[in-house]
Amino acid sequence: MEFSRHNIFSRIKDSDDYFIVNLLSGNADILTAMQAGEILSNNISNPQEFIDRGYLVDPEQEKSLYRKKYLDFLDNRDTDEIQLFFVPSYACNFGCFYCYQDEYTNPSLTVTSEIIDAFFSYIDTEFASRNKYITLFGGEPLLPGKNFREHIASLLKKAGDRKIDVAIVTNGYHLADYIPILKSGSIREVQVTLDGTADIHNKRRPLKNGLGTFDKIVEGIELALQHKLPVNLRVVVDKENIKNLPALARFAIKKGWTKNPLFKTQLGRNYELHHCQLNHNKLFTRIELYNTLYTLLLDNPEILEFHKPAYSISKFLFENGELPEPLFDSCPGTKTEWAFDFTGNIYSCTATVGKEGESLGTFFPEIIKKDDLIDEWENRDVVSIKACNNCPVQLACGGGCASVAKNREGNIQAPDCRPIKELLELGIGYYFYKAP
Ligand code: SF4
Ligand code: SF4
Repeated sequence: MEFSRHNIFSRIKDSDDYFIVNLLSGNADILTAMQAGEILSNNISNPQEFIDRGYLVDPEQEKSLYRKKYLDFLDNRDTDEIQLFFVPSYACNFGCFYCYQDEYTNPSLTVTSEIIDAFFSYIDTEFASRNKYITLFGGEPLLPGKNFREHIASLLKKAGDRKIDVAIVTNGYHLADYIPILKSGSIREVQVTLDGTADIHNKRRPLKNGLGTFDKIVEGIELALQHKLPVNLRVVVDKENIKNLPALARFAIKKGWTKNPLFKTQLGRNYELHHCQLNHNKLFTRIELYNTLYTLLLDNPEILEFHKPAYSISKFLFENGELPEPLFDSCPGTKTEWAFDFTGNIYSCTATVGKEGESLGTFFPEIIKKDDLIDEWENRDVVSIKACNNCPVQLACGGGCASVAKNREGNIQAPDCRPIKELLELGIGYYFYKAP
């Protein structure tokens, strides 16, 4: 018997206890310092307990369990719902300092009826048997102007005719004006970004002319909730605005948003996707962000009412009392996610959409699929990425983001490592020992 290759074992933050997590066997335990010492000195007094939990294994048996779980994962993914992003325009009325699309070309061109028809015709054929929903993305998909609004209304109508839900990723500035149009469709959620309370947000996400946007976005959120449209509030965080998170949480609590079942939140880490940020020192690494959140949560527990950070699988484990299924692949691009834009191009996902050299084909004016590139995307997972093969955290990490990996190493069969062990040290420490 050997120590499993999939054990993730470390000391819990601010505690003498340790954790051991094994995504393949599906077990997780807290260990005393004494039990941990036995592991560290390779002198386990009650090995049967560890064998029963799948922490001590016969390597051949473990390999066959790995293969079985991998095949289950692939089978399950075939029936997962897919998310189809559609970009009606790359134009945007905001001038956010961190926008990764600010280098993209054709910003003033937008969608036509012909393109919308071609998009639906493509997805009707290509994804006929799949459960799916469409997400409108940009640029900004809720722009003003009669023509543009008619196109969005037509998109919603055509989706509705096919019983396909639509989600919208918007900066929120024209959300209030769009409510009547949105109410005509089947809206799964509206994702709106607020980067803090008024002063902070307005500095980071102003209009192109520099004017603030906070008040209009808040008005849009309130109206959307009143009209029973689900709102997913996204906060893009870096070192500049993280300290404002407690104030934003209190703002949302006071507004009554956090009590509304139609309201949820997500934290997005501001990171360098395709080109240099104006000020690189503002950016957090993933672990820096979660370390800072740990301290912020201890000092401002009200943040939890606004947002519960995942800390890899820690929150899931805490809330469900069990581990999630092993994650052989964390990048949905071309598997359960595709992106299409108004120029007729097809991409893997939101990270590559509109980026030169990343098109995987076209749906207009003719259907062309670059099968070799698509195959490469479809095959990427912790089994295909050599660097992931012997990684003990692979089934919690899933190999990370293909686009980030490609930007760094020039090809997608490269790892985008997540600091899983460190995230679990913090997350298990917070949720199991500190959270109110
Ligand atoms: S490449 Fe990155 S952004 Fe695109 S689907 Fe994969 S994980 Fe997501
Ligand atoms: S991307 Fe890095 S951390 Fe993630 S599974 Fe691969 S080697 Fe491990």
